[in-house]
Amino acid sequence: MKLIMLGAPGAGKGTQASVLSEKYEVPHISTGDIFRANIKNGTDLGKKAKEYMDQGLLVPDELVVNLVVDRLQQEDAKKGYVLDGFPRTIPQAKALDAELEKQGAAIDYCVDVEVPDEVIVDRMSGRRVCPKCGEPYHHEFKIPKVDNVCDKDGETLILRKDDEPETVLKRLNVYHEQTQPLIDYYSSKGILVEVDGTKDVKGVTEQIVASLGEK
Ligand code: ADP
Ligand code: ADP
Repeated sequence: MKLIMLGAPGAGKGTQASVLSEKYEVPHISTGDIFRANIKNGTDLGKKAKEYMDQGLLVPDELVVNLVVDRLQQEDAKKGYVLDGFPRTIPQAKALDAELEKQGAAIDYCVDVEVPDEVIVDRMSGRRVCPKCGEPYHHEFKIPKVDNVCDKDGETLILRKDDEPETVLKRLNVYHEQTQPLIDYYSSKGILVEVDGTKDVKGVTEQIVASLGEK
């Protein structure tokens, strides 16, 4: 299964990608997590990416595309993957198509998780993430088993610097301008699945799984 998760920042892409990656037994590939790991390790890529991320801007396409192409060539990606946060621009989508064509592969579905902007702002203020595996939590909507600790690896959860309200508004604008056009791009390819992301986490997963099953 090869999936793309599309949606505004905070729509629930990471949450659903984590569930779907377990269900379909394919890796969860999050470009945001890859950049955050590079920032933590102080790499050159991390230093460059941080300048953009802290401002709520997209990292330039040329820094993202090669990274994803390399990741998709790894052995574990042969059986499929859930792409979370990539592609985010039309040039990224075209670069992905070119790589897939070379591999003789194709994306099965692009899942668009739809959530209105007002709901996003509320969700983001309550988001806490695991600094190690990137798993997202919420103090009201996805509560960890132990207060402020990741269920998967026991790390203390953190608030992302770019989740402060001002940066979230900027990221939403960037989403509408640069990423939303991908909805039409994948719709015209006939692989778009749209789900109502305002339902609870389980309700959103059920809609996605039902749609993938029908197609
Ligand atoms: P969210 O889960 O809130 O949508 P991500 O973790 O996916 O956020 O991304 C965080 C930041 O990392 C983005 O605001 C952007 O700066 C950068 N980023 C992640 N993926 C991409 C991408 N495909 N293209 C450009 N920038 C990206
Ligand atoms: P994205 O990857 O699209 O930026 P996340 O999966 O990180 O979004 O979710 C953003 C925040 O909203 C997190 O705090 C997460 O726990 C919470 N969340 C995710 N899905 C839902 C949902 N269906 N209902 C309520 N809160 C949710």
